[in-house]
Amino acid sequence: MSEQGKIGVIVVAGGKGLRLQRHADDMPKQYRVLGGKTILERTLFGFLALDFIDYVLPVIGVDHREMFSALALSHPKLLSCVIGGGERQESCFLGLQALEKAGIERVLIHDGARPFVEKKLVLRVCRALENHDGALPVLPVTDTIKQSEDGKTILATMNRSELWAAQTPQGFQYKKILAAHRKARKLAQGLTDDAAVAEWANMDVILVKGDERAFKITTNSDFLRAETMLNGENQMEPRVGSGMDIHRFEPGDKVRLGGVDIPHSAKLKGHSDADAALHVLTDALLGALAEGDIGTHFPPSEAKWKGEPSETFLTFAANRVQERGGRIVHLDLTINCEAPKIGPVSKQIKDNIARICDMSASRVSVKATTSEKLGFVGRSEGLMTLGTATIELPRGDD
Ligand code: MG
Repeated sequence: MSEQGKIGVIVVAGGKGLRLQRHADDMPKQYRVLGGKTILERTLFGFLALDFIDYVLPVIGVDHREMFSALALSHPKLLSCVIGGGERQESCFLGLQALEKAGIERVLIHDGARPFVEKKLVLRVCRALENHDGALPVLPVTDTIKQSEDGKTILATMNRSELWAAQTPQGFQYKKILAAHRKARKLAQGLTDDAAVAEWANMDVILVKGDERAFKITTNSDFLRAETMLNGENQMEPRVGSGMDIHRFEPGDKVRLGGVDIPHSAKLKGHSDADAALHVLTDALLGALAEGDIGTHFPPSEAKWKGEPSETFLTFAANRVQERGGRIVHLDLTINCEAPKIGPVSKQIKDNIARICDMSASRVSVKATTSEKLGFVGRSEGLMTLGTATIELPRGDD
């Protein structure tokens, strides 16, 4: 993406949203709170979170200045808001003009009332701009569309296969859409979206696949749908990671597993404290996050990890889950050895893991098995651990 120059996003949020009102004095829909944040904040931060977006510019309604500043938004990529005009076309033009000094090559124009910013959809639009002046996300129209002038008598039934519903973000080569808007401002008012401006200016605009989730909140039932989406299963998605670890026994008098020192006729060999139980869960968590493995983050070649308590590694992995906005749902550990006996200390191991990962012990499983005297484990040359981590991460966290 980056070799193509900077990308700016204009979020148009000037509308009064009269269709979404519960009370006569209701506020504009962009400022309605949806799952703890205003719809507008969700929209803006949806773009601010995308690494390939360089600037986000809100265009707000002239009467909304106080409401907007009360949000006290701050982000390095968020530009100072621009006050829009009476019509959407004018608001977009003012936004485009305000971006003139930002040095962007491509611009995306988005409705402030579409709070579900889908990364894949945004990428489709941006990629289409590699070969076209503009890109418009669309969805096929599923209802049969009737044409009527008075809302009573039918003039015609439209051919549905030729109809597409336009969504946003609509993407454009910045200089071309700015020039088109400038011209349209003098010659063609009342164009309902930017693709219409581009079309009017004979720009080459390609249709790309839209996304059902990128819907616009217009009516109360749209708002309820958005609330359901946020509260429901779509918000988080499960990820599962697995781990496997083997350590050799060497002369010693205790084995450390799950942070517990178990008296034994040998100890485990390793660069750190060789706690194969904590190592394997660290790897399982890093696997669920798809963030490498324990060796990537704590290379055995680095002297500073020598003798390090393995709690450090597991704490790191558990914190990464938290930093990604996720949570650990379940950890399952299997220790495979002939000796020492794990049963008597399994509760202690379980409680330790739960404490380190800041989760309930009822979500930690510790199991043990022997190898029936077979193989390296059976000969007591070493032991093996297996781990599975089930976590939840926010949907779209990639
Ligand atoms: Mg290890």
